Amino acid sequence: METKLWHPFANMAEVKEHPFVVDRAEGVWVYDRDGKRYLDGTAGLWYCNVGHGRSEIVEAVAGQMRKLDTYFTFHDYSNEPAERLAARLSALAPMDDAKIFFTSGGGESIDTAAKLARLYWARRGEPERVHILSRRGSYHGTNGFGTGIAGIEANRDGFGPVLADATRVDRDDPEDLRAAIERIGAGKVAAFFAEPVQGAGGAWAPRPGYLEAVADICAETGVLFVADSVIGGFGRLGDWFGVERWGLRPDLITFAKGVTSGYLPLGGVAVSARVADVFWQAPGHAFPHGPTYSGHPSVAAAALANLDILEREELPARSRQMEKLLHEALLAVGEHAAVTEVRGGTGLLGAVRLAPEALPDKSVIHRVARSVREHGLIVRVLGGDSLVVSPPLTITDEELDFLRASMTAGIEAAL
Ligand code: PLP
Repeated sequence: METKLWHPFANMAEVKEHPFVVDRAEGVWVYDRDGKRYLDGTAGLWYCNVGHGRSEIVEAVAGQMRKLDTYFTFHDYSNEPAERLAARLSALAPMDDAKIFFTSGGGESIDTAAKLARLYWARRGEPERVHILSRRGSYHGTNGFGTGIAGIEANRDGFGPVLADATRVDRDDPEDLRAAIERIGAGKVAAFFAEPVQGAGGAWAPRPGYLEAVADICAETGVLFVADSVIGGFGRLGDWFGVERWGLRPDLITFAKGVTSGYLPLGGVAVSARVADVFWQAPGHAFPHGPTYSGHPSVAAAALANLDILEREELPARSRQMEKLLHEALLAVGEHAAVTEVRGGTGLLGAVRLAPEALPDKSVIHRVARSVREHGLIVRVLGGDSLVVSPPLTITDEELDFLRASMTAGIEAAL
């Protein structure tokens, strides 16, 4: 039967006859309807940090649903799990007295952070500070602001002028950020958004010193520094909010994905005192913004149980240990003649890039990814020439070996 499900980021003309239906999952493995197993080399969409099948999360959600299934947190309404989760995230966030605003995902968190940044300046008496800077190659989701500041041009093309006051700067050169701020005028720039490691752009780690330098430039010019840690948080980069390894203390941090390991949809923004005080200390200064499910109790229960697992099993630290081994595995895949570049080594994610000669047309890279999948490994195609992996943080040495072997075999068989 032909599917009626419209898949995101998919050419439906190609996938409508043969969707790849995932049936169940356990640990780092997912199974199709025929019972064939695949290593979840991407942890879903960079989110399943604790791995699949954690009954602890299931039980926590079921228990919460029996007690208080759902309720909102608008105005003075609140609930226990949302309060506890906010307190826990505030204690973990690398900022003074962080306040936590919840959303239903990464894109909503980007919209929240962008609106908060602009309103912060308006309330501070500088309403002209509306311009938002981002990096080329960046991905910030598909909501309004995220589309407007997207550094992957294909994700903006054809939608018309989504956000006029947005400028993209060089991915690697901090001086390009400084030059852009000077050109536009610091008095017109609200914020700079950056993923610590660019994910959807193709798994690009920052050049040494880059993040520290842009944080300094933001501090010098007053521009708010927004770390988009939607992928980087909750262990993927070896710490809680994806910025601590560089000693960064952003003004705002967007998060999602790993906060629940994707078991239920949750995102949010950690807001530093610098920004929050403007809203929290003056009566009458509401933030007129908020998705219906902000602070959803059952979703918060999933996040709390997920944090328990991440803490108890010390998965952020484990991710730091495994990142080197993953990189070595990808370097071994990189010995194949068709591979021209291996990226990774900063966080539990990485990519192999195939040579242009191996990719005579756009469909070849997808054929290679399918071949890798037929050899038992799920990978993502990004940038039109790269295969990207970001396995659950629980992956073992043997499973990493399987990842290396199936990736190599899949590339070999397809080319
Ligand atoms: N920001 C980054 C860095 C992301 O990687 C993503 C999604 O992959 C988003 C934002 C958007 O998150 P969501 O898809 O939950 O809206």
